Amino acid sequence: MGKIEFNMENWDKCICKNCPTQAESMCVKEKKMKAMEMMPKIKESKMMPKPEMVPGMYCANGKGVCEDVDFSKMCICNECDLWKEYNLANGQPMGYFCRDGEAK
Ligand code: SF4
Ligand code: SF4
Repeated sequence: MGKIEFNMENWDKCICKNCPTQAESMCVKEKKMKAMEMMPKIKESKMMPKPEMVPGMYCANGKGVCEDVDFSKMCICNECDLWKEYNLANGQPMGYFCRDGEAK
C-alpha cells in the first residue's frame, strides 16, 4: 500500500464527515464549518490546509485532534472508496485512523 495522498480528490472521497463517532462533536462541527468557509480559497489556490484543520483524511494524516469524539460508535472507513483503492483492510490499523493513527 502506497502512502495515501492528502489532496482535494481524496478529501472529497473521505466519508469521515458522515461518521457517527464525530456526529456529536462540537470540535468537529467547528472544523467542518471552517473548512466549508475556506473551500473556495482552497479550490482556487489548490493549496491544502493544515491536516489538523480538516475533520477527516486521518488515514493519510494520522490521529485527530478533537477530544469529544465518541469511539463507542462504529468507524465507517470500510465504506469509503479509499478503503478499497488502498486495500486498507489488509493494513494497520483497521479503521479508526482518527484514534489509532495513519494507515500503514
Ligand atoms: S479511509 Fe476513512 S479516514 Fe481515510 S479517507 Fe476514507 S473515511 Fe476518511
Ligand atoms: S477514521 Fe473512521 S472512526 Fe475516525 S472519523 Fe473517519 S470513519 Fe470515523
